[in-house]
Amino acid sequence: MINLTELRAPRTGTPVPPTPATDTDTASIAPDDVADPFVDLAPEPPAPVVFRLEEVSVSYGDTPAVADVTVDLGEHEITAIIGPSGCGKSTLLRSLNRMHDGLPDVRINGRITYRDVDLYGPAVNPVEVRRRIGMVFQKPNPFPKSIYDNVAFGPRVIGRRSRADLDDRVERALRDAALWSEVHHRLGSSAMALSGGQQQRLCIARALAIEPDVLLMDEPCSALDPIATHRIEDLLTELKHRYTIVIVTHNMQQAARISDRTIFFTTEVDDGAGDLRCGRLVEHGPTVTLFSTPADPRTLDYVTGRFG
Ligand code: ADP
Repeated sequence: MINLTELRAPRTGTPVPPTPATDTDTASIAPDDVADPFVDLAPEPPAPVVFRLEEVSVSYGDTPAVADVTVDLGEHEITAIIGPSGCGKSTLLRSLNRMHDGLPDVRINGRITYRDVDLYGPAVNPVEVRRRIGMVFQKPNPFPKSIYDNVAFGPRVIGRRSRADLDDRVERALRDAALWSEVHHRLGSSAMALSGGQQQRLCIARALAIEPDVLLMDEPCSALDPIATHRIEDLLTELKHRYTIVIVTHNMQQAARISDRTIFFTTEVDDGAGDLRCGRLVEHGPTVTLFSTPADPRTLDYVTGRFG
């Protein structure tokens, strides 16, 4: 994880004299062009926005699950969504790749844009949405097929038929999911014979095989032991250089270990609606800040384990 404080130029200590300029240099560089070595480096620019959520609310029938969410999610970052059980983390995550489509009771209000396109706009093809925005679930869910066929499934559906192309994609996805070395000699074996951690990496490989832009992960380690969890966490920190990752986790240490930014939700009783509970975004920001100096006392209580 990048420590922002390490990127600041030193303010104290012995000044290092600038390298003397040559005649040629002085002819073309005016004094104002010489960088002052003691000016702070600018903070890291914000990552390009992949998702922009504006006052997003999701309800099941008349029951709100999460309300009034306004936040941007940045490219090539791991964004962790944390908060107590039932605060709407999974519901919100599923709205980012239109997983609620087809469920008649689910209502989504507000606006979600993905790379500046209204995700729920009438011209948007939900199949293409799910091709670009993959999802990995809590419980590993390999198909009862061979390892090869699991990974080749998506590319076959989107029309990759040449065997060489499929072989290439399967190998690349398995390598990217850090599973190739463990399975390359038994690609025809059943995926169901893999360990839980291997099955989850296979599911990640299956999601990567269709070359998505974003990976949504809903508690991907909650069914795994600590060693398998550690491998997946390492994998995610590698993958973020090529993908944008949004992960729901109930594990605060995991959020602190791997994410660049964190969004904290809590559940509030909706005053106007009996004792209906609804998830609310309390605070979001760089993970380091949210865990060390949160702005909201509710965040502090949660990250210090006083509540939740
Ligand atoms: P979290 O992921 O934070 O645990 P969820 O998004 O799973 O929370 O759930 C938020 C709220 O929405 C809860 O009250 C839950 O009971 C409700 N909920 C989740 N899924 C459904 C569903 N398919 N139908 C009706 N209510 C649901």
